[in-house]
Amino acid sequence: MSRFLSKRHEKLVAYVPGEQPRDKKYIKLNTNESPYPPSPLVVEKINAAEVSDLRLYPDPECLSLRRKLADFYGFETSNIFVSNGSDEILSFAFMAFCDDEKGMAFPDISYGFYSVYGALYNIECSVIPLKADYTVDCSKYYGIGKNIVIANPNAPTGISVGTAEIEKMLVTNPDNIVIIDEAYVDFGGSSCAELAKSHDNLIVVRTFSKSRSLAGARVGFSISSQEIAADLNKIKYSTNPYNLNRLSLAAAEAAVDDDEYFRNCREKIIDAREHTAAALREIGFDVLPSDANFIFARHPSISGFDCYKKLKDAGILVRHFNRERLFDFVRITIGTRAQMDALIEEITRILHD
Ligand code: PMP
Repeated sequence: MSRFLSKRHEKLVAYVPGEQPRDKKYIKLNTNESPYPPSPLVVEKINAAEVSDLRLYPDPECLSLRRKLADFYGFETSNIFVSNGSDEILSFAFMAFCDDEKGMAFPDISYGFYSVYGALYNIECSVIPLKADYTVDCSKYYGIGKNIVIANPNAPTGISVGTAEIEKMLVTNPDNIVIIDEAYVDFGGSSCAELAKSHDNLIVVRTFSKSRSLAGARVGFSISSQEIAADLNKIKYSTNPYNLNRLSLAAAEAAVDDDEYFRNCREKIIDAREHTAAALREIGFDVLPSDANFIFARHPSISGFDCYKKLKDAGILVRHFNRERLFDFVRITIGTRAQMDALIEEITRILHD
């Protein structure tokens, strides 16, 4: 820390991304990326002409991508806001809709960035424990009178909340924003985006990072009322008007165009998830029911940390969270079927040693 850092940020505890090791080549199952490359259409679209246009600023309105997303999801372009990763929308939403009077409520076990934004923007956060079975305690949010952010499916559990419960949160908190972070929804949960047509306090946040294989391009988007989208734009134009670069815009458009490729990758990941969960249960793991591209699992005879460490020594990287109620678990991103078979084989060997 330099002596110049504002006092406001002295105690800020920043988000810690998953390991990106450089020491050797791992089977990398720790940051919920897709094991599949982007669609061939993406590769085709980022061609020499696109690269030559890098001398020009990108379209600050991101109109072409917003149009495509609006058509794809059945909304107007004005309902769609796009961003540099969905993290940016979450950040903008905390900035736009929270203040001294409006705090944010979210589960104690969820995406780690929610509490970081709360601390960064000095927002009062109500942290609501998950139930004993690791599901979101929805009734605690009904009429809470605070803004709400829920990852659905949740991370790192993979467990979903039903659309009826989300609607009840919206209806019982009419003067607050409800953010539903659907980063993983393409892998099995059900999207509540349609509710944005009837509820002006909903923001559905989506990402191209997981199901569309574009984590490196940093593209996210939201679906909401056009008024909320305009508020998010106000924050964007007050911080970084050109928040999406030309290559990422081109990549994202091509990814939306190639729906068949998207569906195909998604199905393969869901199949590999079910195969892995069944195999791990067979060797004694408790695997939480996942609708995401990862599973959260624990075994009675090995600690989460030991499991993570022994897998890492064997060249397979998974994620361990060093915090209460999560110590026993490892979070395993779903890779290709071959990668998952290698993982199952290695875990079985570790348990036998
Ligand atoms: N929400 C959740 C629940 C996540 O796990 C992540 C990825 N770490 C994000 C949002 C952010 O994703 P991105 O910024 O890559 O769109």
